[in-house]
Amino acid sequence: MPTASTSSAREILTGLHDVMASRSGAQAKLNKVVKIIAEAMASEVCSIYLLRDGLLELYATVGLNQSAVHVTKLAMGEGLVGTIARDVSLLNLDEATSHPEFAYRPETGEELYHSFAGVPIVRRERAIGVVAVQHAEPRRYDDVEIEALQTVAMVLAELIAGAGLADKAGAATETTRDAGSARLPGLKLVLGMARGVAVYHQPRILIEHTVAEDIEAERHRVYSAFRKMREQIDTMTSAPEFGTAGEHQEILETYKMFAYDEGWSRRINEAIDSGLTAEAAIERVQQRTRMRMREINDPLLAERMHDLDDLANRLLRIVSGRLGTAAQMGLQQDAILVARNLGPAELLEYDRRRLKGVILEEGSLTAHVTIVARAMGVPMIGRVRDVRQMITEGDELLLDGDEGVVHVRPTGPIGEAFDAKLLARQKQRADLAAFKSLESITLDGERLTVAINAGLRDDVEALETTGADAIGLFRTEFQFLVSATLPRREAQQRLYKAVLDAADGKLVVFRTLDIGGDKALPYLRTEDQEEENPAMGWRALRLSLDRSALMKTQARALLEAGAGREIYIMFPMISEPWEFDAAKALVEEQREWLAARKKLTPYKINYGAMLEVPALAEALDILLPRIDFLSIGTNDLTQFLFAADRSHPKLAERYDWLSPAILRFIRRVVGVARDHKVPVAVCGEMGGRPLEAMALVGLGIRRLSITPAAVGPIKAMIRSLDRGQMMTHMETLLAAPPNDMRAALVEWAEENGVSIG
Ligand code: PEP
Ligand code: MG
Repeated sequence: MPTASTSSAREILTGLHDVMASRSGAQAKLNKVVKIIAEAMASEVCSIYLLRDGLLELYATVGLNQSAVHVTKLAMGEGLVGTIARDVSLLNLDEATSHPEFAYRPETGEELYHSFAGVPIVRRERAIGVVAVQHAEPRRYDDVEIEALQTVAMVLAELIAGAGLADKAGAATETTRDAGSARLPGLKLVLGMARGVAVYHQPRILIEHTVAEDIEAERHRVYSAFRKMREQIDTMTSAPEFGTAGEHQEILETYKMFAYDEGWSRRINEAIDSGLTAEAAIERVQQRTRMRMREINDPLLAERMHDLDDLANRLLRIVSGRLGTAAQMGLQQDAILVARNLGPAELLEYDRRRLKGVILEEGSLTAHVTIVARAMGVPMIGRVRDVRQMITEGDELLLDGDEGVVHVRPTGPIGEAFDAKLLARQKQRADLAAFKSLESITLDGERLTVAINAGLRDDVEALETTGADAIGLFRTEFQFLVSATLPRREAQQRLYKAVLDAADGKLVVFRTLDIGGDKALPYLRTEDQEEENPAMGWRALRLSLDRSALMKTQARALLEAGAGREIYIMFPMISEPWEFDAAKALVEEQREWLAARKKLTPYKINYGAMLEVPALAEALDILLPRIDFLSIGTNDLTQFLFAADRSHPKLAERYDWLSPAILRFIRRVVGVARDHKVPVAVCGEMGGRPLEAMALVGLGIRRLSITPAAVGPIKAMIRSLDRGQMMTHMETLLAAPPNDMRAALVEWAEENGVSIG
């Protein structure tokens, strides 16, 4: 049953439908439209303003002086109409003149009218015009009238875009310069600079048709879309990987609640009854959510509204049949990806030659997606607020990962400054590339090892381009993350062999599978255990030892790939020495199996352990005699030492790697390892930052395994550092730590001419 709200909108839409179908010119159509609206709403005035050459021009009116048409023009933000367009939000006033932004235009003759209601005409989330009604009598418009006006504005957007009447939303015009150019700050996640075009990971749907031909058919379309969406959400919520309690549970529950919300589906159906297509109806209701979102101050509630917005996008994608991510649909050249958040596997799906940068609303420094982006050499910033409001698909973007900002729709001078900086950066990189052939020797003559972290076959090329000494961490799980199904032993073996061949005699440390936590594999069912804290849960070696078939397969692949060579195998997340023993025994068992069949095996296997669980530090005297090398994973170690989730956006910047707790902890580990004559390296992200790396060298670390892009800066740091002096200074600092350890280290580096970038 259509309600009162749908009937007045429907009346207008029927009229608009005829106007749109008619063969008259665009101006004549607009003249008819204002009449239809005025009649249906019994308003004395109805006017349409369109954005032309950056100004909002009165295009058609009934009630105002006709001589003002194409004469009255308002800038963005000027008067009530300019305010509506700038803020992309409606105004509903019983006394227009009392609004602070009211701007009187004598040529219009509007002094006769008191009440005013106006809504933006929106295309690609920007206002391309305004439609307004006015009455002589001071009154507020009720929801039904406002909603009718909003519906009309949607249809008008289609008519105007089709006729090419207004400035193109997002085009580089005067207005977009005024209203659109923006500088959004964020958290630096992966350094680097990129110029490109905004592409949404989940692309936005641009609605082409707003007026329904057949209301029943539209109702049916939205009904099946709802059913499908609910099925998807149900499947998602019951998937084993989400079966655990935690923050995601709450999000999924909210999703579920919204998906089944009768009020939401009723509002969409009402919009369809008023004559809109299913897509337009969903968006109409979504616009209302967005407006509410802007008005809400409560962050929790705003977050919920965000979820509803996400869900509406999902529904739109289903109803329009445009599913899939930007990666699946083929990425355009020079794309800068915009997303709320991404999993490492999702990022790996993108063509790295086309992907120039990533902007996330969430994100943290040591989340695996960040590590993957770093490995791919793709600049990334995170925790950028309101991206979805501020960036439209197709916008020109300048991403400055070094500064942690993105310029949206930049003006000429900003673009020029960016290019100049980019050039300087390229020169600096070229200078650093000169370090490629230079050894990592400190001023006092100590040769340190600078290795790279890798995970994909192509990463190995970085060994050559950076002149690094080795691959200190090869994350074997990356192959599992990029694959749609469990990689077979042959595929694993091929990858490991290709890596060893490409490394051309340089050492490669293969880390056995580290899955779980934020590296979930959709095809690997993690049984039905409830995991409240997946990062501290059944992951890495814990999972591998329990699922020994997985581990055995990988061990066989490694042994076959390394046949006739010396190889290095490292186990992640060792918490107690027996886990190392069990893992080593498993590999040895495979070696014996191969040897018994007269298969060639590696002539030497070096076994290493990662120290990333603090408890292991207390058992080093037991573990060290059994292992060949130790590698400190500062990413996980920090999260466990501080009890702070490494991928939690709110904790991303809370704790500093240069805190006395971490530095003292590492110093102790280095000391015990030295006593046992076991080499120790650092392979977390910390080692790739010059200041942090300087501190690590000061603690006695001689081996670093870092992201390839950091090799130049780290070598530069090492070659400008007197290790002995740093070690002495570090002792002094750690004996009585200053309040700000970072500042103290920067000061020392500057005083001593150490290159810290
Ligand atoms: C670490 O935890 O520091 C580490 C190097 O391993 P990952 O980041 O892959 O967990
Ligand atoms: Mg780790």
